[in-house]
Amino acid sequence: MTVDLGMPAGAAPVLAERRKTRQLQVGPVGVGSESPISVQTMTTTVTADINSTLQQIAELTAAGCDIVRVACPSADDAEALPAIAKKSQIPVIADIHFQPKYVFAAIEAGCAAVRVNPGNIKKFDDKVKEIAHAAKDHGTPIRIGVNAGSLDPRLMEKHGKATPEALAESALWEAGLFAEHDFHDIKISVKHNDPVVMVRAYEILAEQCDYPLHLGVTEAGPAFQGTIKSATAFGALLRQGIGDTIRVSLSAPPVEEIKVGTQILQSLNLRPRKLEIVSCPSCGRAQVDVYKLADEVTAGLEGMEVPLRVAVMGCVVNGPGEAREADLGVASGNGKGQIFVKGEVIKTVPEAQIVETLIEEAMRIAEEMGEGVEEGESPTVTVG
Ligand code: SF4
Repeated sequence: MTVDLGMPAGAAPVLAERRKTRQLQVGPVGVGSESPISVQTMTTTVTADINSTLQQIAELTAAGCDIVRVACPSADDAEALPAIAKKSQIPVIADIHFQPKYVFAAIEAGCAAVRVNPGNIKKFDDKVKEIAHAAKDHGTPIRIGVNAGSLDPRLMEKHGKATPEALAESALWEAGLFAEHDFHDIKISVKHNDPVVMVRAYEILAEQCDYPLHLGVTEAGPAFQGTIKSATAFGALLRQGIGDTIRVSLSAPPVEEIKVGTQILQSLNLRPRKLEIVSCPSCGRAQVDVYKLADEVTAGLEGMEVPLRVAVMGCVVNGPGEAREADLGVASGNGKGQIFVKGEVIKTVPEAQIVETLIEEAMRIAEEMGEGVEEGESPTVTVG
């Protein structure tokens, strides 16, 4: 028997059309309005430690990372780039500060792109011609990555601080220098730790150029605060169709950044949804421990690749209604759980068996969905 997921044909609705941009390729990953928004992060290993770096990249790849960036502060790191670029399963971007010579090393190493920070590369403007030629010869895109903490001193003097206008002006100035050498394979970021400043800076950029934009709130903080800052800032921009690739910055392992970035895009239907737990906040009517139930179901279904929505509701007041809207759900009460599949009660089980029953049913549905799920569809499971 197959489960009728009742999903509408075609892509899920989104809040805004993407802003039209130039298109570029970071290895096999397209960046620009013609491509899905990609999620990236940065390794935390010493790049020169090739094995550790590749191991971390493998973990990030498994978590859904599309593009990875590695720091390159020393000659040893630069020497490691060819091996890392060759063996990584996802495109590798070299992150260069201070030393222009490493820009050329990264391009020669076969990195999929290079990030430069015009605010702290010595005499960067004088090097643009050479960099543009080398990058063009190798088909290597450049990210102009302006950061509030290392803004070009000339602009700091002009604007007094890292205002949105100063950030945008720095990036557009550098992009203009590359354009003078007929190099346009550029994406831009203008990061600030204040989401309001950051959002405004990207809005200015979006009005004034058609380069793809890499979104990021820099130094966003520990996981909780950083997640909220990134989600609100990215949401404000994605609502306007602004943003072609994203990096969530957290004081937490990079895998967490990928999880948050992926979830932000999934929440806005900008990436096909996978497992989604719809659980109620609980209240005085709850007849089960909703938090525990939701945690156990989430843990039991971790890694599920099909777009499955599971609703976990705390009582029979709203439970059945919500459960009906999902692919799978449970409505709890009187020590029992009514298990719903696509709105129909398929069985009632004792409370102690709710989690295992839901997981069993989810696995069964997932297996049946395996072949027939189109990108953009988002089946649901409800626990209530
Ligand atoms: S589903 Fe029930 S327990 Fe959960 S918040 Fe709503 S009324 Fe409260």
